[in-house]
Amino acid sequence: MTPNIAKMISEYITRKRSPKVIGRYYPSEIGYCLRKSYYSYFIETNYDDETLRVFEVGNILHSFIYDVFRNNRNNKGEIEYVQNEKAFISAYDFPDNSFEGNWQSFLISGRADDIILINNKEDGKEDKYVVEIKTVKDLFYINEPSYPHKLQLQYYLRVLSAENQNVRGLLVYIQKDNLSIKTFNVPFEREVYIEIISRMRQLDSCLKKLELPPKEAADDPKMKWQCGFCPYAKQCGADENTGKMVTHLEAFL
Ligand code: SF4
Repeated sequence: MTPNIAKMISEYITRKRSPKVIGRYYPSEIGYCLRKSYYSYFIETNYDDETLRVFEVGNILHSFIYDVFRNNRNNKGEIEYVQNEKAFISAYDFPDNSFEGNWQSFLISGRADDIILINNKEDGKEDKYVVEIKTVKDLFYINEPSYPHKLQLQYYLRVLSAENQNVRGLLVYIQKDNLSIKTFNVPFEREVYIEIISRMRQLDSCLKKLELPPKEAADDPKMKWQCGFCPYAKQCGADENTGKMVTHLEAFL
């Protein structure tokens, strides 16, 4: 009997992910619509087979770039591969300004996909680059780092610069069908880091108080494209006037 490879692929990519836990947040999500993130803590997303295959292409290309870095044969020794998928977890505590003097505590965890170490031989310094890789359908439309990708990389820069001097960000977009790339330098910006933490705090507060965040993607022309890909669009529409996820909380909690 001919092996059913298509079925094997489908089974391979349909891996069960662990449910999210309130109090643990991810830099890769914080630049996207906060209401969408909120829903993802209560409602499991079941992506269809085609979408899961597209996600897998991203993973495959990530492994490819990892191999390129690892096997780099630059004989001047300018680019030295350091490590892949550095995992981290950071704890945050803030006074919540309540009368009772409570604290708002949460964790941020994630992984920076790759770090390339570049030896600058001219002045004897080393500059480390955190490289974040994103796959896209068409590079033609990529003229600057997207807001969510920029926030994600900024957070990694903040975390890794605690260990390394001169760490810089490099966002690499790869076109899926021909492996052409566009790269963008992303220097650390303190204001963006503050914005990230502020968004994390807002998400955390909404989740713990069961208050629905504003539908920021729907209300912001620059973010509106996210609604077209949002698996929670139906819930979002239903909850629009209530301001709470009342019906869904009853169903999912
Ligand atoms: S439909 Fe749009 S506004 Fe609503 S949760 Fe999804 S991305 Fe956010």
